[in-house]
Amino acid sequence: YDLRDEDLKDLNELGQGNGGSVKRVEHVPTHTIMAKKIVLIDAKPSVRKQILRELQIMHNCHSDYIVSFYGAFLSDPNICICMEFADKGSLDGIYKRIGAIDIEVVALVALAVLEGLTYLYDVHRIIHRGMRLVLYLTASGTHLPPLDIKPSNILCNSKGQIKICDFGVSGELINSIADTFVGTSTYMSPERIQGAQYTVKSDVWSLGISLIELALGRFPFADSSSDDDSDLSEFEGTLSPSRPMELPPSKSKKERDEKKAKKNKRKSKGHIVNEPAPRLTPEGRFSRMAEEFVDGCLLKDPDVRKTPKELLQHEWILHAKSSNFDLEAWASTF
Ligand code: ATP
Ligand code: MG
Repeated sequence: YDLRDEDLKDLNELGQGNGGSVKRVEHVPTHTIMAKKIVLIDAKPSVRKQILRELQIMHNCHSDYIVSFYGAFLSDPNICICMEFADKGSLDGIYKRIGAIDIEVVALVALAVLEGLTYLYDVHRIIHRGMRLVLYLTASGTHLPPLDIKPSNILCNSKGQIKICDFGVSGELINSIADTFVGTSTYMSPERIQGAQYTVKSDVWSLGISLIELALGRFPFADSSSDDDSDLSEFEGTLSPSRPMELPPSKSKKERDEKKAKKNKRKSKGHIVNEPAPRLTPEGRFSRMAEEFVDGCLLKDPDVRKTPKELLQHEWILHAKSSNFDLEAWASTF
């Protein structure tokens, strides 16, 4: 596709997130229905172009567990990212409509996310990035951007396919969004909250939180929107994305105060570091395999937490793989 904004006809809005909004659109010349994500970027033209270049990597992602990429273009002051439209929407919307998700489906979600993550790491982050090392080092440093696993980024269609979207291929895009970020991001692993280097294990933590949310039909951390941010102060300065090639500029007092004001709007994250990790509860409601899998995702120490590839061998996942649960029939019920 050679995508141009004037060839895209808006159909309806699909949702809004922290970074922008998503619309269902028709690519008129080919009659293709797409999801168009519009991200407002407050950055110099050179950075916008860099983001666009980094996003082109998504043209090389082809997996049943990854939402297809049709293309991206600049539409000042936005960046538009066009991707496959998932007609059943995201899993957060689904559970909010139909209630807690059947644990058999949750296991298949885990399988799909692990397959998607393993694909991205094996095919793109390691091999692909290896070939583009020079480009990537100048683009976004040596750190891999996070994949942002959460129910709103796990999509479902009426064929019963489950796919991940919004994985961070563009370090610059993430930096640009993060600079203006004021929302919550409580799917973050303890090590990320504390500012440690991001690894594949951080995505596994986010997967664990997401699975509990789906199985219980609610976000597993108590609503802490009324909390003050007193327990955040110890993480002051650690929440910004790492940019190893460029040290963060030292902030003026005014900037720091503005940042603090933003943080006051956030839910506190100290409890993720300090409290025991959430679990699939009440005990005995779910199978031991399911409980054990989720506990394994939510080990606080990233060194003992397993990788997506290792978790694909967990018996709960192997069991899900060999089950003949009909996701297409399930998706036809809502
Ligand atoms: P965040 O900005 O923190 O990532 P989010 O994922 O909810 O939060 P968006 O990525 O902007 O925000 O997406 C908004 C909503 O649009 C999603 O919750 C999802 O329901 C819907 N959506 C996004 N992409 C697609 C798609 N490809 N097909 C169908 N619906 C989509
Ligand atoms: Mg999203």
